[in-house]
Amino acid sequence: MAGTLYVVATPIGNLEDLTLRGIRVLREAALVACEDTRQTVKILNRHGIKKPLLSYFQPKEGRRIPEIMRHLLSGRNVALVSDAGTPGISDPGFRLIREALKASVPVVPVPGPSAAVAALSASGLPTHKYLFLGFPPPKKEACRKLLASHRETDATLIFYVPSRKVPEFISSSLEIFGDRQAVIAREITKIHEEFIRGRLDELKKTHLSGKMRGEIVFLIEGRIRKKKKPF
Ligand code: SAM
Repeated sequence: MAGTLYVVATPIGNLEDLTLRGIRVLREAALVACEDTRQTVKILNRHGIKKPLLSYFQPKEGRRIPEIMRHLLSGRNVALVSDAGTPGISDPGFRLIREALKASVPVVPVPGPSAAVAALSASGLPTHKYLFLGFPPPKKEACRKLLASHRETDATLIFYVPSRKVPEFISSSLEIFGDRQAVIAREITKIHEEFIRGRLDELKKTHLSGKMRGEIVFLIEGRIRKKKKPF
């Protein structure tokens, strides 16, 4: 019988943010498939876990998939982790998961942190409907095009924006969406955690010239639908 591929979410900063089930699954797995072994060792050491690690990402995503599949098909359970947060969410993982499913290997999520949901949960923006758009395209014009295609989206928009790109991202967003509410969620769960809430115009005035550091989730309020007149 095939083993199980467990998709295990790991901390996005604070090493205490690993669930009890996550710890048990990592402890019981035959091996841990990870991105960067140096990152994963830190998490495992924090919880006193020693496991064979296999980097499925380096030197190239996908090259290690056949090896991991051999382990799974010979009945070993494998825990898939990424450097931080939930595997597959703007991180590698999808290709291995798809291969596992094709081979009828059970794939089981072990939920936990993801920067997008952590940011949304404390943002103060509407949470009932949201759209995760991951990393925007690095080129300015492509990024503007993407933003423009969501002008009418009535869901909170969530992006992973590299800190050096924040000023440009604020300017483009203000031009395209107008002066909507936005939130910059920085270094969530870390010592310098910060939520900067305000209208895009305020954020532009305050943060356009200043350097912003650390990891950032950028959230923008969705289009607010005007209430239809009853008659
Ligand atoms: N798989 C991860 C997840 O589930 O959130 C995301 C990995 S992606 C390669 C890394 C990006 O996630 C960062 O550039 C940043 O936008 C966001 N991120 C990760 N950790 C964060 C944190 N502690 N605070 C704010 N943003 C974070």
